[in-house]
Amino acid sequence: SGDDNSKGNEDSIKVVARFRPLNDSEERAGSKFIVTFPHSKDDQVSIGGKVYQFDRVLKPNISQENVYNTAAKDIVSDVLNGYNGTIFAYGQTSSGKTHTMEGVIGDPNLQGIIPRIISDIFNHIYNMDENLEFHIKVSYFEIYMDKIRDLLDVSKVNLAVHEDKNRVPFVKGATERFVSSPEEVFEVIEQGKSNRHVAVTNMNEHSSRSHSVFLIQVKQENIESQKKLLGKLYLVDLAGSEKVSKTGAEGAVLDEAKNINKSLSALGNVIAALADSTKTHVPYRDSKLTRILQESLGGNARTTIVICCSPASFNESETKSTLDFGKRAK
Ligand code: ADP
Ligand code: MG
Repeated sequence: SGDDNSKGNEDSIKVVARFRPLNDSEERAGSKFIVTFPHSKDDQVSIGGKVYQFDRVLKPNISQENVYNTAAKDIVSDVLNGYNGTIFAYGQTSSGKTHTMEGVIGDPNLQGIIPRIISDIFNHIYNMDENLEFHIKVSYFEIYMDKIRDLLDVSKVNLAVHEDKNRVPFVKGATERFVSSPEEVFEVIEQGKSNRHVAVTNMNEHSSRSHSVFLIQVKQENIESQKKLLGKLYLVDLAGSEKVSKTGAEGAVLDEAKNINKSLSALGNVIAALADSTKTHVPYRDSKLTRILQESLGGNARTTIVICCSPASFNESETKSTLDFGKRAK
């Protein structure tokens, strides 16, 4: 119930910081690589004389497989045991969030967390006890300007958050697709992405201003004992965390920026409250995103936050504010 989940345990939230390499345009513009990784430590990073510590720090040359093993592998086995989980990527635009969550689907080396999770779930299922019956369904939606848009049905542009009979919040009416192989899931993802493209004029700008949420629900039933388990896993590619210049932005752009700011702060406040054992109130209700995630953040659920950072001098202040966000969860 909501009460059981109202207070988290620090260990259920893992923070992993990932640094991407300096990119060509940064190099051409003369940006410097300004972060250092202390020798013999895999959980620290230093920037401008300040050392930050997380559960793990992933350096620019780390493989996508290594990212998966660090950030997601444990959550998959929990979900198959009936627990809920959330993995989200936080960071400024072009810091590597989508590369981390999605990567290049279909490329064995470059595929990201989501396709690896899907393959892993099906591999587990193919190898399991014959008495277990599995039903897997996925949903895919985005939150833009605090409105939930179904990426699997373009006619649903403003879905509502309701509570079920156990008072667990969920997105009412979101399309749920039953899937029976990884390939089927990848098709659903492609469909969602193409719907997203159709709805907007500039996809890159749009994706940096909306949160995309991919939900996997794994239901299993033991045919002999009839014991049932349901695990839900939310995979979230957050809107870009960069500050919009206060002087330059106006109108719609400013409204978007305020909205993103509000929902990311709400998320930060929830994470900070879960990590602080003296806090008894967790402000889930302050945004749609945190309401939806309520049952999958803290409590019995396992959460990984991947904070994605640029190593370039040009992005120093955004990188510091991203690292500070990650620190609030510890
Ligand atoms: P975001 O989703 O945060 O806006 P992206 O994931 O789209 O950022 O990354 C921006 C660009 O940098 C993309 O071209 C992506 O392929 C590249 N990139 C990001 N992270 C890495 C990485 N760790 N190694 C190599 N290229 C990366
Ligand atoms: Mg992106």
